[in-house]
Amino acid sequence: MDFSLEEEHEMIRDSAREYAERVLKPASTEWDRAEALSDEGLAAAAEAGFMGLTTPEENGGTGFGNLHSCLMLEEINRWDAGMGVTLSVHNSLVCSLVARHGSEDQKGRWLPRLACGELLGAYCLTEPQAGSDAASIRCRAEKSDGGWTLKGTKSWVTSGDRAGLYVVYAVTDPDAKPGYGIGAFLVPASAEGVRAGKKEEKLGIRSSTTTEVLLENVFVPETDVIGDPCEGFKIALDALDGGRLGIASQALGIHRACLEDSLSYAKEREQFGKPIAEFQAIAWKLADMATSLDASRLLVHRAAWLRDQGEICTKECSMAKLAASRACNEAAQDAVQIHGGAGYTTEFRVEKYFRDARITEIYEGATDIQRLVISRKLLR
Ligand SMILES: Cc1cc2nc3c(=O)[nH]c(=O)nc-3n(C[C@H](O)[C@H](O)[C@H](O)COP(=O)(O)OP(=O)(O)OC[C@H]3O[C@@H](n4cnc5c(N)ncnc54)[C@H](O)[C@@H]3O)c2cc1C
Repeated sequence: MDFSLEEEHEMIRDSAREYAERVLKPASTEWDRAEALSDEGLAAAAEAGFMGLTTPEENGGTGFGNLHSCLMLEEINRWDAGMGVTLSVHNSLVCSLVARHGSEDQKGRWLPRLACGELLGAYCLTEPQAGSDAASIRCRAEKSDGGWTLKGTKSWVTSGDRAGLYVVYAVTDPDAKPGYGIGAFLVPASAEGVRAGKKEEKLGIRSSTTTEVLLENVFVPETDVIGDPCEGFKIALDALDGGRLGIASQALGIHRACLEDSLSYAKEREQFGKPIAEFQAIAWKLADMATSLDASRLLVHRAAWLRDQGEICTKECSMAKLAASRACNEAAQDAVQIHGGAGYTTEFRVEKYFRDARITEIYEGATDIQRLVISRKLLR
């Protein structure tokens, strides 16, 4: 067994680290306050190739895999988790979804524009009454001449107000059994009848925007239905396996930030005549943070590697997200504690990590939903 990364993996990780330190590190605090990423920051991500990382080369991307994507996302999330989720949704829930399930025509029309950053992708599954129980969506798609007409409200859409292309899930057959009779539709933001609604004010990942998306009789041509119009929920779940790897990588990035900042603070801050790192209570916290970070990373990389081999690895993706997000929250808690009163202020970044960490246990399947997925696979 070989745990070393290939040269290509290291190259992506290093270029993401360079981008994160050059672009995100100086801007992140300001973006957090402004509750928005800058256009320049996103353009720089596109220029570095991070918006087409997993898109096939023939469709304008670089054709890398899930492991490359996880390495890239850990680096980005080390400095700005809002940019992290924006790129994770774009790559895993939109670009990879179209690459895996779209027709040749859809791939040819949409992927080059997504991969170069001309269009940002967003994923519209959740509705006000349908969160964890995503199969209970009510957004309706009615068959009309040459396509479908969509009507409904989507909530909690990452990049809902700046996306150029939405993947929208809607009920095509209300009489079908749960999980069936749902279609996946490609809806450009320029389509008549679609607009962003209320913007959420959030605790963390504030540089990413989260809005409602309102669909009022939006016509979608047959050519923009992804796969079978009654089997879109399977596509949603497959995309979420990849999405969960993205969020697990987000947790790795935030966790690492907590560890790195805590290490330097603990070596510098003195109490009782010596650096607080010399107190066993602090040193053990650091040891635990480092150990759980490595354990999480191994789970994330294993799941990403399995998905790159073409394996169905729903359980492993859920395990990676469950473990990494919980460990990240524990690390954030400890990081604030190690910083004492200073950690409770905006002078140090750990208060931001603490706020950002919370979301990793909520979206793309809350912690208990991951347990549900894993236990169902174990008990089947
Ligand atoms: C910042 C942010 C960005 C988001 N971005 C997107 C996006 O881009 N696209 C999108 O479609 N959605 C998005 N979401 C929605 C997100 O995926 C949902 O919030 C999440 O799935 C949880 O749904 P909910 O908020 O309705 O919570 P609920 O489903 O109401 O859950 C509340 C609590 O009950 C628990 N619970 C629910 N069912 C069970 C069960 N069967 N067993 C045990 N416990 C259970 C949950 O674990 C949770 O703790 C985003 C959410 C946030 C906050």
